[in-house]
Amino acid sequence: PIYLDYAATTPMDSKVKKKMNQYYLINDIFGNSASRSHQFGWEAEEAVDISRNEIAKLINADSREIIFTSGATESNNLAIKGIYEFHKKKNTHIITSTIEHKSVLDCYRYLEYKGCNVTYLSPNKYGIIKIKQIKKNINKNTLLISIMHVNNEIGSIQNIKKIGKFCRKKRIFFHVDATQSIGKIKINMQKLKIDLLSFSAHKIYGPKGIGALYISKKPRIRLSPQIHGGGQERGFRSGTLPVHQIVGFGEACRILRKNMHHDIKHMKNLQKILWNGLKNIEEIYLNSNFNYCVYNIINISFNYIEGESLLMALKNLAVSSGSACTSQSLEPSYVLKSIGVKDELAHSSIRFSLGRFTTYQEIEYAIIEIKKAVLKLRKLSPLWEM
Ligand code: PMP
Repeated sequence: PIYLDYAATTPMDSKVKKKMNQYYLINDIFGNSASRSHQFGWEAEEAVDISRNEIAKLINADSREIIFTSGATESNNLAIKGIYEFHKKKNTHIITSTIEHKSVLDCYRYLEYKGCNVTYLSPNKYGIIKIKQIKKNINKNTLLISIMHVNNEIGSIQNIKKIGKFCRKKRIFFHVDATQSIGKIKINMQKLKIDLLSFSAHKIYGPKGIGALYISKKPRIRLSPQIHGGGQERGFRSGTLPVHQIVGFGEACRILRKNMHHDIKHMKNLQKILWNGLKNIEEIYLNSNFNYCVYNIINISFNYIEGESLLMALKNLAVSSGSACTSQSLEPSYVLKSIGVKDELAHSSIRFSLGRFTTYQEIEYAIIEIKKAVLKLRKLSPLWEM
């Protein structure tokens, strides 16, 4: 099947695999990067340092601002719970949006359960949170605002520059989940007023099980660790580092830094071709607004067709209905609901997401397959004939 689910995860770049193999199979480095007393430890430490520098360089940060985690889920947990635990007072209030990833929303629910006051902001129909809403909803007890950079289902892009500026002025901590924006939008931490930024290697052609949390040094952000132990990662996240995965993550970031311009142009072309090929199908609705959306995600509703049936009919295409993370449930996507998409249309939605290795031929083939499947399923649909 053709892979059009890059927002769920990406295949590893062959250069990343090569680098990881070289590290393991050829150089046979196995040391603990925290072992300061011998060669084995120094080798591992050097490999971690090089990778940390590559990762920092990609977002123009200082390498001391990068903390390794197991992925963006853990980074989000560390950022949100860590800030709350370290700084909480009576009546602490925190803000997020209704379209965040579950790993943010469930942290907020958890803190709500612990007695924290929480505001969930709803986006407009394009999936955008306006700064006005934030201004209206803060109070003197607001401690933290967490807003994602790019949404994983519809691709909408938030104005993190504006929100960051406002938060800094008001002395409110600002956390950004950048899991879906890294590699799709250039991020320059020197130009943004962001305190904490989460991201993950497996969305940028790196290995699974490794991610990072950027923790600002200027101003210096303090938070409580969520995993206690040997004090690795400056005490923010204990545990022996998975050096081979970190090596892969660093290489993925190095490639991205060189390739991003090309990647973005490529995805932009493919997105246009895909939509132009599909837009004449009757009764289809674009849930991603191209004025406010990244180039690698298109979310479309095919009216009168169940998303699940369409997935089955598109056996040769790997795509998602709703969001991969929540598609075990048959509830319509909470993100689509939040931007005002009606239940039937939310049920008939498919997310196509493109990446570095997507080809023109694959998109042409996908267009033909989708058109065929839609025609066939609508013929079978009693509602369509009426
Ligand atoms: N945030 C967003 C926006 C995501 O899309 C994802 C991955 N689905 C995550 C967080 C979780 O990332 P990870 O798989 O690295 O834990």
